[in-house]
Amino acid sequence: MKTKTVELVASPRAPHFVGDGFRVHNFIPSGFRMDMQRMDPFILLDYNSTYNFPPSDKPKGVGVHPHKGFETVTIAYKGKVAHHDSSGGGGVIGEGDVQWMTAANGVLHKEHHEEEWSKTGGDFQMVQLWVNLPAKDKKSNPKYQAIKYEDIHRYQLENNAGTIEIIAGEYKGTKGVASTFTPIHMFNAKLNKGGKADFEFPAHYNTTVLVIEGQVIINNQDVAPTDHMALMANDGETFKIEATEDAIVLILSGEPINEPIAAHGPFVMNTQQELIEAFNDFNNGKFGYLED
Ligand code: MN
Repeated sequence: MKTKTVELVASPRAPHFVGDGFRVHNFIPSGFRMDMQRMDPFILLDYNSTYNFPPSDKPKGVGVHPHKGFETVTIAYKGKVAHHDSSGGGGVIGEGDVQWMTAANGVLHKEHHEEEWSKTGGDFQMVQLWVNLPAKDKKSNPKYQAIKYEDIHRYQLENNAGTIEIIAGEYKGTKGVASTFTPIHMFNAKLNKGGKADFEFPAHYNTTVLVIEGQVIINNQDVAPTDHMALMANDGETFKIEATEDAIVLILSGEPINEPIAAHGPFVMNTQQELIEAFNDFNNGKFGYLED
């Protein structure tokens, strides 16, 4: 088996605010200076690096907005987010939790700091990832997978190296609880200083490593510091990570869908015509109603 090498280690771009509650660095696609197709099925990744929000009586966040044609995955490392949608659904994404929302044929929702958390404020750190859907699944009904931290399956590495938390896919026989439409592996690797872990994915799977805490060396060669993201080349199957200090890294690997992408704002379809229809449906109230 060949080594999957590092194509580039991207430093975080200048942050921007999404609403007033998420201060994010975009890594996919602009941090990698690539188009949406390159990391297919991962079409967008916004990373809110650790940022201290002061106390606020009015929860900060982003008001009512639509999504259609894909899934949003929110991984909370620090802080709490409350969400509500046009079907009456809602919930709280707490520290360590993952929310996997299938927008598919369309949802309206809003996302804010959880009310009690907002009153005290504090460090906030999250990943929001957009996972594309194949054309046939863009037509399916919206759903949520609220994955609590305690329900995430774990693989203990040898030699006290640390733990792999499997959100989706499989690591050495341990499966994640999230169901996905296409093959996806999503892990949080929590490594102790000096801890090592190896990973194996098909060469054509698009693969990336985001350093949430600490620092790692990939393949004994490429240093990836905190808040940096390594893009792995499609040249081999295996790579290894060693933590030079206690580290948390998010590992994503997915089989490309290989369908055309027509994207604008919160809509990701296959053709321009479908995008126009999505905007018309939204403007005509077909996504339902949600109070701001
Ligand atoms: Mn959203």
